[in-house]
Amino acid sequence: MVRKILLAKPRGFCAGVDRAIDVVETALEIFAAPIYVKHAIVHNVHVVEDLEKKGAIFVEDLDEVPPPKAGQAAGAVLVFSAHGSPPQLKEEAKKRGFRVIDATCPLVTKVHLEAKRYANEGYFIIYIGHRGHPEPIGVMGEVPEGSIVLIEDASEVKDLKVPQEDKLIYLNQTTLSLSDVKNTIDALKARFAKIIAPPTVWDICFATSNRQTAARELAKKSDLVLVIGSKTSSNSNRLRDVSEEEGTKAYLVDDETMVDPSWFSGVETVGITSGASAPEYLVDNLVEYIKKVNPGVEVENLDVLKEEVKFPLPDDLVLLARQSEKGTAWVEKHRVASQR
Ligand code: SF4
Repeated sequence: MVRKILLAKPRGFCAGVDRAIDVVETALEIFAAPIYVKHAIVHNVHVVEDLEKKGAIFVEDLDEVPPPKAGQAAGAVLVFSAHGSPPQLKEEAKKRGFRVIDATCPLVTKVHLEAKRYANEGYFIIYIGHRGHPEPIGVMGEVPEGSIVLIEDASEVKDLKVPQEDKLIYLNQTTLSLSDVKNTIDALKARFAKIIAPPTVWDICFATSNRQTAARELAKKSDLVLVIGSKTSSNSNRLRDVSEEEGTKAYLVDDETMVDPSWFSGVETVGITSGASAPEYLVDNLVEYIKKVNPGVEVENLDVLKEEVKFPLPDDLVLLARQSEKGTAWVEKHRVASQR
């Protein structure tokens, strides 16, 4: 019988996700539906469904966005997702006449800039990330072919072929497991004596790091951990992995409808956390569900770290908004509100 629910803090939306959703909602408010979004704005099925209901259309290919009609002053508004995109794609979108707004998280943009800078300085880049995830695809698009290679983990270091060993740097995807990346970096340093680190030692973002630290503490105090997040979400998957590294059974679920009541057998304390792209109302729904099947259960917060980061909206949204009366009024209202 479950007696206690522990809620990890921090959990859920990070500053980059908050900003990306704000970009789409603001674009819908200023330019009106439909607003096109290249790829899921963030990797969460509920966020995508909620935005679709408001008028966002998610596309994987630029051909799915209608071209401007002859004589039309402005093309479709196209938002690029928080994960980042290759620069060639953004250029192509602009060439097609779309009004482009880039919602890439500033911490992913930081890695794009590092990749460009070190490739320009003649370094060969070893990038640690997940094959097929949009974030590595975006970063790798920043540098000439042959100047970067992707590895997923330490097991790929032994047979890795690089064109030079004197100018080497590693970079990484922002949402990986802290312990996995550390192992991979250790293996790279052991094999390549001259490899250098990026300025921040690694590129794991504060939100990933904080949520994993909190999830580890949560797992130590729980008999079962439930992680709210979609299976496509890299950082949510890592929260489940971290909990299991602590020896606590953990499941990744989109919402309470995916929970199997048999998981609660022999469990006294259920820990709950959520990925950086998961809305808080899903946590509330899960808590209500557990309370319903376990009357009398107590709910406690587990405050591990404080997080107060906020990112401003992208300049290209503000510049596009200023092209209309409605948008200019919105920008002024937003500027005044953010200065309070
Ligand atoms: S998880 Fe990190 S990199 Fe990704 S959007 Fe959030 S803050 Fe940015």
